[in-house]
Amino acid sequence: MSVKVRFAPSPTGKLHVGNVRTALVNWLFAKGQGGQFVLRIDDTDLARSTLEYERGIEEDLTWLGLVWDERHNQSKRFDRYHEAADRLKAAGRLYPAYETAEELDRRRKVQLSRGLPPIYDRAALDLTAADKAALEAEGRKPHWRFKLDGRRVAWEDLSRGHAEVDTASMSDPVLIREDGLYLYTLPSVVDDLDMGITHVIRGEDHTTNTGAQIEIFEALIAAGMGSEVPRFAHMPLLVGADGAALSKRLGSLSVAEMREQGYEPLAITSHLGRIGTSDALEVGESLEALGRGFSFDKMGRSPARYDTEDLDRLNAQALHAMPYDRAQPRLAALDCDLGETVWNTLRPNLARFDDIQALTRLVRGPVSPVVEDPAFAAAALEVLPETIDDGVWAIWTEAVKARTGAKGKALFMPLRHILTGQERGPDMASLVPLIGRDRIVQRLRGETA
Ligand code: GLU
Repeated sequence: MSVKVRFAPSPTGKLHVGNVRTALVNWLFAKGQGGQFVLRIDDTDLARSTLEYERGIEEDLTWLGLVWDERHNQSKRFDRYHEAADRLKAAGRLYPAYETAEELDRRRKVQLSRGLPPIYDRAALDLTAADKAALEAEGRKPHWRFKLDGRRVAWEDLSRGHAEVDTASMSDPVLIREDGLYLYTLPSVVDDLDMGITHVIRGEDHTTNTGAQIEIFEALIAAGMGSEVPRFAHMPLLVGADGAALSKRLGSLSVAEMREQGYEPLAITSHLGRIGTSDALEVGESLEALGRGFSFDKMGRSPARYDTEDLDRLNAQALHAMPYDRAQPRLAALDCDLGETVWNTLRPNLARFDDIQALTRLVRGPVSPVVEDPAFAAAALEVLPETIDDGVWAIWTEAVKARTGAKGKALFMPLRHILTGQERGPDMASLVPLIGRDRIVQRLRGETA
């Protein structure tokens, strides 16, 4: 069976780490076995969906490398949803109800006060044609509810194992609001059937929906729309480093923002693809390699811990391992391309790619030397070897020590200060040969170079 999955974001906000993880796991699962990934924009809510968010979603997915094989907008498929609604009505599974939100709320409160579960009582099913006509004459418009079978709906969840939802404990879901708006529940099922989706992979907050949606899948298949209920995987949700739900903080964890902060796409995808799994939290070789290694069997049942410190570590790891040919175009764009040797020497110091700008300046200047003791600098200049090669640092510092008597920190810190103008930075033994003799001499003389 060839695998086909979909990512179905609503374009009502920016992509954040929570929904990107869903997109990513779908992508990894499908691509790991040569399957297809569908991007489906859930924009039936025309009032809340915007083209700007839609473009943002596409831009973010593209940047992360999560390319799609097919792309759809639900807003272009209303004919199919009308068709499905008609068939469900004909089958007696979709019925009109006229209660207002206040009426429903009042009934729920009464139920709760009597210790009963606040489930819709299906009063609308008892309405006669005359009752309905009278309500509509009053100006009331119906919303439409799906009539659940009220049974144990069971499935083998790829992530959770055997799963069951008792639809008798749920209210009949509203599929169409009184203003005609389709809630996501029905269009999603129609699309999954029409597009031949084989696996629905989403967060565990959708588990109850799945119970109702499986009934809708079956009702539509029985009504001649589609042939097979997909399989399901419900992933444990993300929590913060403190174990608390991330939902409230997700706004500040948007992909767009992370891109601005200079994170590497591969660090983000390695992190989100591996938290909550038995894989070591390391940066992958590529997105494809992550896909080949992906399996739901590796995913634990407890929430996945999202810790920015882990992401920072993976980001550094991605940079420290980045080959020159991959870095080169970006180095050139920043005017920081000093060749492979310089890249290899400097990259272990990167936390973000853009750090390369400050590091490159240490090599080619301008650096304003910090000379605290001019006599020490002069002595160091006197014993500076003629040839500045890979081994020069050990030889030179030994000579400075012999000449000045300085050792340890008192020897190394002033040299670092003079040559880099700062207290911390790359390993001096590798940096010094890159700086070159002329600039070393100038800096030892206290000149900006
Ligand atoms: N638009 C829905 C959401 O973002 C899609 C859920 C699903 O994957 O079925 O929650």
